[in-house]
Parts: sequence; structure tokens; C-alpha cells
Amino acid sequence: MTEFFIQTNKREELIDITALIEEKVKGFNNGIAHIFVPHATAGITINENADPNLPVDITNFLNRLVPKGKWLHDRIDNNADSHIKASIIGNSVSIPVKEGKLQLGTWQDIFLCEFDGPRRRKIIINVIQLK
Ligand code: ZN
Repeated sequence: MTEFFIQTNKREELIDITALIEEKVKGFNNGIAHIFVPHATAGITINENADPNLPVDITNFLNRLVPKGKWLHDRIDNNADSHIKASIIGNSVSIPVKEGKLQLGTWQDIFLCEFDGPRRRKIIINVIQLK
């Protein structure tokens, strides 16, 4: 198991962590990389970063879907929308690894999804080695 931390800068943002994950799986031959975010108001997803507008579109879509300030949890913590968005996105991804390389598609990148930042976020990586 390996872990690292990312400091986010905004309340909501998608941060491309592909290069950091690639670095962590280099020593493995064939297996599955499981990447987990142990937070209730952040998530992780795989999508395109070639067009920088796409992460913005995803954030805007989630804000339209889950408006801020109208949920029961807002009475005690004022961040219910952050929790709901994190649940929609999910908190882990699994990616095949072959000869030390993530088998992502051409247009796939890995994003840490911040929904209640800025915060220091932990990311845990386990590589399950296969024969
Ligand atoms: Zn909360």
C-alpha cells in the first residue's frame, strides 16, 4: 500500500492526478491498481482532460444537479451538496496495470474530485499483483 496527499485550492475542482498514480505503479508488472479516496466530500473519477473545459462541465453539471444549501445536513455542517456529489462520483477506481503502466485509454485521465475544499486530501493506492 502506498499513499500520498494533495492540497486542493478551491471549494470544487477536478485535479488530474494521472502522472502521480503512474509514478506509484511503475514497479509493478501485471495487476490491478486500486485507487481510493478516504473522504466523505471528495471523490475520484476517470475522464478526459485533453479539453480543460470538460472537468468544468462536470463540476457545473453536478452543481446544477445538486444545488447548495437546501438539504437537511446543511443545518449542522452546510456542506450536504459536497457529500451528495462525492456519493454520485464514488470514492475509488480500479485500473489494469501491464508492465508497470496504467492501461488507460487514450482519452482517459484520473481526477481527484474536490467538493468541499480547499483541503488536504489523502489518496491510497494498492496494486494487486497478478501472474
Ligand atoms: Zn458534512
